[in-house]
Amino acid sequence: MSRIIVVTSGKGGVGKTTVTANLGMALAKLGRRVALVDADFGLRNLDLLLGLENRVVYTAIEVMAGQCRLDQALVKDKRQEGLVLLPAAQSRTKEAVSPLQMKKLVTVLAQKYQYILVDSPAGIEMGFRNAIVAASEALIVTTPEIAAVRDADRVVGLLEAQGIKRLRLIVNRLKPAMVQADQMMSVQDVQEILAIPLIGVIPDDERILVSTNRGEPLVLEEKLSIPGIAVNNIARRLEGEKVPFLDLMAEHDNLLNRIRRLFRG
Ligand code: ADP
Ligand code: MG
Repeated sequence: MSRIIVVTSGKGGVGKTTVTANLGMALAKLGRRVALVDADFGLRNLDLLLGLENRVVYTAIEVMAGQCRLDQALVKDKRQEGLVLLPAAQSRTKEAVSPLQMKKLVTVLAQKYQYILVDSPAGIEMGFRNAIVAASEALIVTTPEIAAVRDADRVVGLLEAQGIKRLRLIVNRLKPAMVQADQMMSVQDVQEILAIPLIGVIPDDERILVSTNRGEPLVLEEKLSIPGIAVNNIARRLEGEKVPFLDLMAEHDNLLNRIRRLFRG
C-alpha cells in the first residue's frame, strides 16, 4: 500500500519544501521507494533543494499534455536509490494544471512508489487543491508564529472538509532560547491551538538553510546533526516507529551549561 502525503501549511516560507526534500531523502535512506512531487507550479524549487535542477528535462506539465511519458519526466536521485522527483514547470500559469490531471498522475506514481510526498504551494487557491486532491494524509508545517499558526489552522479545516483525516503537525524553526525567554510560542502552545497530533519539531538552524541551498539535504550527512536527527525521526515515526521527541529545550540548556563551564574553567 502506498501512502500519498501532502506537505502543506497555508503560509509561505515556513519550510514545506525544505521538509519535503529532507524527509524524502530520510525515507529513501530507510530503504523506501519515494516519489517527491513538486506541486508548486508558480515557484518551483524542490529540484533546487535536492540539487537536481540540472537534470530536469521534462516536467509534470509535459506528462499531462501527453508530450512525454511519466518515467521520462522523473528525475532519479543518484545519492539515494529509490528517490525520484517529479518536477513542476514554472513558466506556465498555475491554472495550466487541473486537480483531476494531478490526481491521475499521483495515482499512477502510487503503483510504483511506497511514499508520494506532494510539496504544496502557499495559499489555498488552485495550486493547493491540486496538491491535496490525491492525498489521504497531510503533514502540516508551521513555524511558532501567530500568522503561520492561524493559516495552518485554516488549512486544517479545509483538509478535514476534504475528508483527509490523517493530519500530523510539524513545528519548524523552533528557537529554544526565545521560547525560554517567552518571546516565542512553545510547541505545546501551537499544538493546543491546532489540536492535531505532533509528528516532529525541527529547530531553527543555519545548517538546514546552508545544506538545502547547496542542494544537499542535511539527512545525507554521515553523522547526523540535531536538525538532521529531528527530520530522520519524523521519517521513522511515519514508518510507525515510536521515537521519543528530542528535548530541544534541554539541548539548549546543555549548550548554555557548556558555555558557562568554559567561562568558569
Ligand atoms: P516554503 O516551501 O514553506 O515556502 P521553504 O522550505 O522554501 O519554505 O523555506 C523557506 C526558507 O526558510 C528557506 O530559506 C529555508 O532554507 C529556510 N528554513 C526552513 N526551515 C528552516 C530551519 N529549520 N532552520 C533554518 N532555516 C530554515
Ligand atoms: Mg515551497
